[in-house]
Amino acid sequence: MPHPHTLAASAARTPELKSKLPRVGTTIFTVMSALATEKNAVNLGQGFPDFDCDPKLVDAVTDAMQRGLNQYPPMAGVPVLREAVAAKLATLYGGHYDAGSEITITAGATQAIITIILAVVHPGDEVIVLEPCYDSYVPNIELAGGTVVRVPLTPGTFRPDFEKIKAALSPKTRAIIINSPHNPSGMVWTQAEMLQLQDILAPTEVLLISDEVYEHMVFDADKGQRHHSAASFPALAARAFVVSSFGKTYHVTGWKVGYVAAPAALTTEFRKVHQFNVFTVNTPVQYGLAAFMADATPYLSLPAFFSAKRDLFRSGLANTRFKLLPSEGSYFQCVDISEVTDLGEADFCQWLTTEIGVAAIPLSAFYGDGFDQRVVRFCFAKKDETLNMALERLARL
Ligand code: PMP
Ligand code: GLN
Repeated sequence: MPHPHTLAASAARTPELKSKLPRVGTTIFTVMSALATEKNAVNLGQGFPDFDCDPKLVDAVTDAMQRGLNQYPPMAGVPVLREAVAAKLATLYGGHYDAGSEITITAGATQAIITIILAVVHPGDEVIVLEPCYDSYVPNIELAGGTVVRVPLTPGTFRPDFEKIKAALSPKTRAIIINSPHNPSGMVWTQAEMLQLQDILAPTEVLLISDEVYEHMVFDADKGQRHHSAASFPALAARAFVVSSFGKTYHVTGWKVGYVAAPAALTTEFRKVHQFNVFTVNTPVQYGLAAFMADATPYLSLPAFFSAKRDLFRSGLANTRFKLLPSEGSYFQCVDISEVTDLGEADFCQWLTTEIGVAAIPLSAFYGDGFDQRVVRFCFAKKDETLNMALERLARL
């Protein structure tokens, strides 16, 4: 029997909230994907592949489920996966991490990054972000009570501007977040730039949060391009949380599994927060990933795989009035729209999705003040036929 209500139904009222993120709405990725579905547009907006992962990876996860590996794993992640990650970091980057005390498996890079920030940022601490930057960083810092210090990447090239970074450092700076290969611009930090950052941070107590989710997507090795992980630079590694995502590496963005590598003292604090915000991450997926990682070929072949897509997409775009920006890594291609339209970025993306049938992301979404430089981002992690269909439509512009 339900309890008799003593108050009239009309008096029922949800208490008012003071928003913790008053300026935040639904993420642009969700908004543009919904619009793309509604308008039946080719979705080159949100960054995710439209092709499936290697069936061997699905088999490895299925096998783990069938072997009954379905209960809580250890809090930091299953040891075989942590060992596989530590071995990869040592082989590729010469970074030596102890799998027991320095690697933690996370629910994607998103949970890794917010957990790092909650673990290290106290109210009033400053955190430097280099804009444009991934859209979760700023709200994460605000949730921790930190102060966001926005430093622009160099307009046009999106390269780090060390004079500006130096000028932004203060006694209150707790951390700086970097991201290479870079979302949205596809810029890749050079070794010289990593060394410059190392020098600048050397006299400070500033922590480094290095978002390396596109680590295996760096193109043009023939021109000397490669990923320079913070793990490769001892004086950066000593102060760094290195973050990556299996979602990007293995074409399984929906699985939401990633990792953080950091010195033991940093990992200890990280895990204090991790254990109370997610506690543990999907067990059979972790075992499946560990088995799949035994062969390095899938991630070592990503540069060739994605650079072929980049080149296909760029050669098609060359027939449009978009001005192509460089794409050195990641799976994104940015274009300048100023010859094509008088609209601002966000209006243009709405129009392009609705009228031309191709979804893109405005770069303004990656700036705290919505800065509009007439540039939009396309994702080329798509089947060739999808890219060709988008190019046919874009050729109308
Ligand atoms: N950082 C960057 C730069 C990204 O592009 C993404 C992808 N959405 C993430 C973090 C989050 O990764 P995940 O899907 O593993 O949470
Ligand atoms: N990282 C992806 C992108 O930049 C999207 C992830 C998300 O939807 N939050 O498009």
